[in-house]
Amino acid sequence: MARTKTDQPKLNFDGLWDYDPAPESSDAISIKDQYDLFIGGEFVAPSKEGRYFDTINPSTEERIASVAEATTQDVDIAVKSARKAYDKYWSKLTGKDRAKYIFRIARLIQERAREFAIIESMDGGKPIRESRDVDIPLVAAHFFYNAGWADKLQYAFPGRQPKPLGVAGQIIPWNFPLLMLAWKIAPALAGGNTVVLKPAETTPLTALKFAELIQDADLPPGVVNIVTGAGATGSALVNHPDVNKVAFTGSTNVGRIIQKSLAGTDKKYTLELGGKAANIIFEDAAIDQAVEGIVNGIFFNQGHVCCAGSRLLVQEGVADEVYRKLTDRIETLVVGDPLDKNTDIGAINSKAQLDRISTFIEKGIAEGGEVHQSSCSVPDKGYWCKPTLFKNVSQSHSIVQNEIFGPVLAIQTFRTPAEAVEKANNTPYGLSGGVWTDKGSKIFKITSKLRAGVIWANTFNKFDPTSPFGGYKESGVGREGGLHGLLPYIKL
Ligand code: NAP
Ligand code: MG
Repeated sequence: MARTKTDQPKLNFDGLWDYDPAPESSDAISIKDQYDLFIGGEFVAPSKEGRYFDTINPSTEERIASVAEATTQDVDIAVKSARKAYDKYWSKLTGKDRAKYIFRIARLIQERAREFAIIESMDGGKPIRESRDVDIPLVAAHFFYNAGWADKLQYAFPGRQPKPLGVAGQIIPWNFPLLMLAWKIAPALAGGNTVVLKPAETTPLTALKFAELIQDADLPPGVVNIVTGAGATGSALVNHPDVNKVAFTGSTNVGRIIQKSLAGTDKKYTLELGGKAANIIFEDAAIDQAVEGIVNGIFFNQGHVCCAGSRLLVQEGVADEVYRKLTDRIETLVVGDPLDKNTDIGAINSKAQLDRISTFIEKGIAEGGEVHQSSCSVPDKGYWCKPTLFKNVSQSHSIVQNEIFGPVLAIQTFRTPAEAVEKANNTPYGLSGGVWTDKGSKIFKITSKLRAGVIWANTFNKFDPTSPFGGYKESGVGREGGLHGLLPYIKL
């Protein structure tokens, strides 16, 4: 990962190059001590008096702010406000006028990009380089992209008469808080729907700052509502009778619960769920590039990525070389303060997630896997996991089959392309995959046989708002991004 020339390297005690701290200042950031629910264009107290929970900074374990917990009654008020805004304003606007608002949101995001990036890193633990260079620019890009469609829906779906669905209930996870919000809210608004969105319990702050931005953008009241809370709040939203469309991103387990509760209703739904992607490295691949791709695939955002390349399938002839290069490379990854611009791997999002990852690492060892971790040191306070590699694992190992959602890579080898495909497809998931080879024909052959929604060739974790994203099998139903992602918010 690139280091800037201005960083002054110095030798540490092991004789390795080290960097002075380069922390991003959070002085200019304003975070309120307490946040209410955002309903009908205003911040309103939750109906159950005093029901607030804390959101902490996972790199320091310090409280940042407290946030309201929305009850079923609050969710009802939010849905009613969204319905009213739909009937009164949003469904009456022309596409061109809707587009103006969405473009305004996109520009305001760009103007406040630094503020959003810092808060995202504080609340969730991801390195500032990622929130600054990946998350927030993509957030703006999703609003720009969808704003562009708002007045062109009849061209997006030629020969049809596109109509909005009504009120969308949207539930998002903690790994890309503002980006998942953008994936949900941008197409919903472009399609002419109003929304009630529930952010994850551990990362509600950028959604609440977004609510302030919605006020500044002067959106008609109630077009966007943000209800904070835990699983029960999400469940109340899913089961509200006046929600026309449910959009959920999260775990396969909760996705199953939601799908069951929606059965028999006429609510439309999309479910973006878990993954266990294989990165397949052939002998003819550019090995150094592939190693960077493997590192990016599994250590980006601490491995809290649904499409993470959490399995490595490497062809036998280059397996030793790839492993040696990988073990060398992870020694150079800087683990620590998410606000430090040198940091490659930030804090694990929560204590619960760290416990889950640790349990998987213990299981991997107990089942006979050979573990290797970076020798880096980690801060005393906060939740940290060193970059971890596992060799000597097979298809039946729990760390090969289950989504760990942490910086843990399971490494297997293969001899023939058929074996690679067989192993890659042999999990309950099918969200993403990666293929590394010098041969274009091999890319086409292999990718056509992989049962996954998104496949990268000679790269990994590349995202663009024009490109649809979503899974096969237990990785979900429906697509987000591109026209495929707009369609679920539209009646034709
Ligand atoms: P999660 O536990 O399923 O939670 C996701 C969201 O659902 C959170 O806001 C959560 O609230 C809420 N929720 C929990 N129980 C609910 C219920 N019964 N009804 C309605 N909502 C409920 O998942 P997570 O641990 O936050 O996120 C990690 C998962 O997301 C991973 O499996 C990852 O693969 C997946 N993910 C998928 C994609 C994709 O596009 N396919 C993208 C990103 C992440 P709380 O926060 O209070 O628990
Ligand atoms: Mg937090």
